[in-house]
Amino acid sequence: MGLPMTIEMAKKSRALAAQGHHVVNLSLGEPDFDTPRWVKDAGIQAIENNHSHYTPVPGIPELRAAVAAKFRRENQLDYQPSQIIVSTGAKQSIANAVLALVNPGDEVIVPAPYWVSYVDLVEFAGGTVVAPVAGLETGFKMGPEQLRAACTPKTRLLIYSSPNNPSGATYSPSELEALAEVLQDFPDIFVIADEIYEYIRYSEPYVSLASLPGMKDRVATVNGLSKGFAMTGWRLGYLAGPQEVVDACEKIQSQFTSAATSITQYAALAALESGQNSVRYMVDEFCNRRTLFFEAMAKIPGLRMHLPEGAFYLFADASSYLASNGFHSATDLCLHLLETAKVSSVPGEAFGLPGYIRWSFAASQDDLHEAANRLIQAFGTLNHA
Ligand code: PLP
Repeated sequence: MGLPMTIEMAKKSRALAAQGHHVVNLSLGEPDFDTPRWVKDAGIQAIENNHSHYTPVPGIPELRAAVAAKFRRENQLDYQPSQIIVSTGAKQSIANAVLALVNPGDEVIVPAPYWVSYVDLVEFAGGTVVAPVAGLETGFKMGPEQLRAACTPKTRLLIYSSPNNPSGATYSPSELEALAEVLQDFPDIFVIADEIYEYIRYSEPYVSLASLPGMKDRVATVNGLSKGFAMTGWRLGYLAGPQEVVDACEKIQSQFTSAATSITQYAALAALESGQNSVRYMVDEFCNRRTLFFEAMAKIPGLRMHLPEGAFYLFADASSYLASNGFHSATDLCLHLLETAKVSSVPGEAFGLPGYIRWSFAASQDDLHEAANRLIQAFGTLNHA
């Protein structure tokens, strides 16, 4: 298990910046907004109130109740607070669930492109990843027949994110229903639905897989505050699911980290109580940046792209620029772009789709203009097939 490629690219761009270059960093996956004022205030208040002690491993009761209320209000999902476990980020929630569910020899379906960590976590648990490719042609979404073809008697788990990192693809209600219908034929397969980008999407409506008929007892829904509330550094995620899965996650978490930070938990309470509309201003701005960046990058001939429906990434097929310029992979091309245009990006190899590049548009409009201009120039000096 190496360093995720996203972190590797960020390290290289920091080194260039240290040499005095103005690098536009479009490689990292986090909102550039500050945490909302009222959430910060709740954190400060928690410190003043001396909420500085261990909390119960799955979280303070008020927060578990607030998460259950969020699921009821926004996802039409009815969970008891006992079915919620709060962790130090969606990443830990996913790690807990993978370790709880996957045994050596199990197969886990992870449609590509996927978030880097799913694969490493499954392999860490001794599982084997089966990755059906959902490329640009299918809008980066796995279709029902692809899912059916990937299911075998050894399949234990399906992990997917919607909106997706790196592509921004977001399953519509009918697309999810079609996947759920296939899963009816495979009752032993459990699902981790990663909904961390739920709030950052540009189309309605949004449906949680667990809320579809017959799915609630076989889905663990993971979400958190990192993306929607611009709280990546606070480390707060949560998982809701069947009681036995939540109990197993609690056992694992109790040995690895115990609970999430007490102060963060009180800040999270304020965030969850303010709800989705309170952070709409960030989504509106991401939406403007999406348009700006997409329209600029569409000027590059030979780059194939799809307008992202959610998250804050543009994922483009750059394969026509590889062999024609002597690049062996998108990683080579990304390094070339970093060196010549001083724009950092992440190669598709990190997400199971070689030949693609991910650019994050969680950057200011000025930076996005600048990056797009530099990239247009850099691609202009290259040949494409
Ligand atoms: N899931 C996906 C798809 C992500 O892109 C990320 C972060 O980049 C995470 C989970 C992790 O979220 P957290 O910071 O809450 O651990």
